[in-house]
Amino acid sequence: MTNVPAVQLDHVWVIYQQRPALEDITLTIPPGRYVGIIGPNGAGKSTLLKVILGLIVPSRGEVRVFGEPPARLRKSGQLLGYLPQKPLSEPRFPVTVLDVVLMGRFGRIGLGRRPGPRDREVALAQLERLKIAHLADRPIGALSGGEQQRVFIARALAVEPRLLVMDEPTISLDACAQDDLFEMVFDLKRELDLTVLVVSHDIGAVARHVEEVVCLNRRLYVHEPPPIGRLALESTFGCSVEYLFHGEIPHRVVRRDE
Ligand code: ATP
Repeated sequence: MTNVPAVQLDHVWVIYQQRPALEDITLTIPPGRYVGIIGPNGAGKSTLLKVILGLIVPSRGEVRVFGEPPARLRKSGQLLGYLPQKPLSEPRFPVTVLDVVLMGRFGRIGLGRRPGPRDREVALAQLERLKIAHLADRPIGALSGGEQQRVFIARALAVEPRLLVMDEPTISLDACAQDDLFEMVFDLKRELDLTVLVVSHDIGAVARHVEEVVCLNRRLYVHEPPPIGRLALESTFGCSVEYLFHGEIPHRVVRRDE
């Protein structure tokens, strides 16, 4: 079982209304890796995550997550924790923090069933883990962006996943909070033996924290550990890129007039 890749895509295409969003993606991610996915707007990053989560069936190609079709894993309510780009469509929705985290248990509980003591125990444990147990009874809409983000990570962890997938988790956070979040996710990964995929536009933060980078722009341009060179980044983004990865610290590039 340990040799089974966490994620395996084999010549995967996704075509929306005759337009390819993903072209011929072949990718293997071993278990236990922390992987950043970068690419410009519309590059297919969210689509890639949804394919891996079994929310979209590819037009062509094969997907396996821990050796299984992802839709089968989803049906069994196990293994896949997901932090979507917009975790709540209506942030003023009148539910408490604990209710939100309990939603992570629904896949395991089954439709129409109520959470039991073990579900509450798991949900509360995730709130403790993320140091927000004191917020359990607060309405989700009354929290700051950073606090809400921790709640949604707690919800994803309440699934008790082996794969944690996060779509731009740092979008509403300031620079320090972004770094803290990447660091915290690294600690969670080690503690819980997770494989983590994170989409981010923050190339600098990705460079500092992840173990592998996937550069995507409909096609897969690069899949390797940082540092990623400027040419690879620029070919992915199709324009000059502000940050380069050199050693541990990314720095701004001053472009001379061409
Ligand atoms: P961003 O960084 O802007 O969030 P992304 O890299 O996550 O973008 P996707 O959301 O995967 O990109 O979208 C890839 C392309 O597929 C875009 O051109 C988008 O308009 C298109 N697309 C995504 N979902 C659908 C859909 N359900 N129907 C039709 N086209 C779609």
